[in-house]
Amino acid sequence: MAQEELKRVDSDCPAFIADAMLGRLARWLRILGYDTLYNKDIADSDLIRIARQEGRIVLTRDRGITAKKTIRGYIFITSDHIADQLREVFQVLSMRGFPRPEPFTRCPVCNSQLKRLTKKEVSGLVPDHVYLNNSEFSCCPSCGRIYWRGSHEANMRRVLGDIA
Ligand SMILES: [Zn+2]
Repeated sequence: MAQEELKRVDSDCPAFIADAMLGRLARWLRILGYDTLYNKDIADSDLIRIARQEGRIVLTRDRGITAKKTIRGYIFITSDHIADQLREVFQVLSMRGFPRPEPFTRCPVCNSQLKRLTKKEVSGLVPDHVYLNNSEFSCCPSCGRIYWRGSHEANMRRVLGDIA
């Protein structure tokens, strides 16, 4: 069971900032559409400062971070396994009744909002079998990666099971 202390509650989708140990969780939250910052080299003091400035919930496995007096809202993650970590986050979110974002709208690598592309626009940019077998494509305006639904949907269902 995740321990939580969320002082800031509003009707927006929650945004997160994950500590250095939670890179995989950050990627999955992005795939699910959540605005999630992650930098494995960030200092604890910067993590907490950015969370406060931007109203982000800190995701952490570090008791040193949750003990800081300056921290506002956080979810303390206890599990080593990604599916259980996501379950811990969603337990807290569903108790709070937060709305869910649209999945597949954010770049899992850099957290930018993806831009939809037409099939014509991706012609020649993805492998032929991908082009032929998919109709929904998007690209990341920051890192330039191209995504298609099949690229993470099957993987997501495998990892998440009944969570999403
Ligand atoms: Zn990107």
